[in-house]
Amino acid sequence: MGYRNGDVSHWMHAGKAPAFGPATLEDAYDLVVIGGGLTGLWTAYYAIERDPAARILVLEAAEVGYGASGRNGGWLSPLLPGNRAVYARKSPHGTQGVLDFQHEMFGAIDEVLAVLDREGVDADQVRGGQLTLAPTPAAMARVKATREAHLRYGYEPSQAVLLDVDETRARVNSATARGGLFYPDTARVDPAKLTRGLAEVLRRRGVTISEQTPAAEVTAHRVRTRRGSIEAGRIAVCLEAYTSTLLGGRRVIPVNSSMIVTDPLPASAWEQIGWEGRECLNDSAHTFVYAQRTADDRIAIGGRGTPYKYGSGTPGDGASDARTTTNLRERLESMFPGVYFPVAHAWRGVIGVTRDWCANVTYDARTGVGVVYGFAGHGVTATNLAARTLLDRFEGVDSTLARLPWNDYRTRQWEPEPLRWMGVRGMYVLFGLADRWEERTQAEKTALPARIGSRIAGLHE
Ligand SMILES: Cc1cc2nc3c(=O)[nH]c(=O)nc-3n(C[C@H](O)[C@H](O)[C@H](O)COP(=O)(O)OP(=O)(O)OC[C@H]3O[C@@H](n4cnc5c(N)ncnc54)[C@H](O)[C@@H]3O)c2cc1C
Repeated sequence: MGYRNGDVSHWMHAGKAPAFGPATLEDAYDLVVIGGGLTGLWTAYYAIERDPAARILVLEAAEVGYGASGRNGGWLSPLLPGNRAVYARKSPHGTQGVLDFQHEMFGAIDEVLAVLDREGVDADQVRGGQLTLAPTPAAMARVKATREAHLRYGYEPSQAVLLDVDETRARVNSATARGGLFYPDTARVDPAKLTRGLAEVLRRRGVTISEQTPAAEVTAHRVRTRRGSIEAGRIAVCLEAYTSTLLGGRRVIPVNSSMIVTDPLPASAWEQIGWEGRECLNDSAHTFVYAQRTADDRIAIGGRGTPYKYGSGTPGDGASDARTTTNLRERLESMFPGVYFPVAHAWRGVIGVTRDWCANVTYDARTGVGVVYGFAGHGVTATNLAARTLLDRFEGVDSTLARLPWNDYRTRQWEPEPLRWMGVRGMYVLFGLADRWEERTQAEKTALPARIGSRIAGLHE
């Protein structure tokens, strides 16, 4: 069937062509949203819900879904976009703030699915849960520790269920699984259908979406584009990994995540693999992979690949390197030996990562500028919650959302280059070493290089 590399993503390529293009711009709007990804679109959605007469403009540099929102793994999951222990330590509301955050994340999955239902958006959504496979004894120990942390931070026992090896393989028959952790709340979506579907809803509601219209500068109540300057009551900067390209600074950097998708697999392959429940699937290796079984019976699988481009480079149309594609296919082959996985398309995108991996929602009432970033790999659900949080901040209401720990949360800056490049690369080298060590020794304890890597990155909880 031929192999494609880049072209944004399989999801964006396989769906219908972009439908907006550049719009005619007015001189002034009540709200200008910068970035046509899920954060920006959800912000516009709730803004028009709250005030149907509001004049709203979404500016998108390329096309709706061009960023991570059109390239991701399609997991609508309850995983928090940040380190819970760090949030609890730094938030004025302590652990209660994190418990509220987690509660809202579970609610946000329901909310996204309810909006899709209400607005008639078909994003191939299936609520099949999420299964984390443990490929080694050390990974199984980590899965158990993760579950204990989940229970401390607001999960009910039924929301993170430990599975033994037979229960795990009854769901997904992976040869490498030694057990797993099952999260029933997670849903699978087609990311481009979600993002474009939401944009279509906005168009119906009278929101102006202008593609191929990058914002060039943001000042108090004003956004400058190549096509003129626009006055704005409020401005929502929703650029995630692209934030520094507009605002400068080193608070968030782009980190690569790469994916491949197979051709549709034959029934004989699915008989061996199982995966009837269409769970979102990952493993608890340090160099973890994440995957979904698509509506048309392909497997889409992703992982870090080459993790970071010197100087915080962004990935353009997303061409991926051959080594990453081979590694991801080999991971599938080791999970499901004997099954043939023809790769149809490979691509990469960037996640926005802060120095302590915690997401931020900030708002300055004086300038009218709100900024959201730092979801890392957990934005499909969290973007919905962030949008509602930002709107509460715009309105100045004292709500649960306005008190969540990510509000006005400040992370320290990333190091300047070449330290940043060395640090991110070094962390993934340590993680790779640790995975190989744990596989070879079958030890139960997490290998030292991974403990060092997590500490440097601030990932341990
Ligand atoms: C490969 C991959 C897999 C992932 N898998 C998952 C997953 O399964 N589950 C999960 O929860 N999260 C996942 N994530 C993360 C998730 O996709 C993101 O957190 C989320 O989509 C972020 O949405 P956003 O709208 O904030 O940013 P983006 O979707 O990146 O949107 C930012 C937009 O801003 C535009 N832009 C840039 N500069 C300008 C400018 N100057 N003016 C106007 N527009 C501009 C860009 O073109 C882009 O469209 C994944 C990410 C990647 C890359």
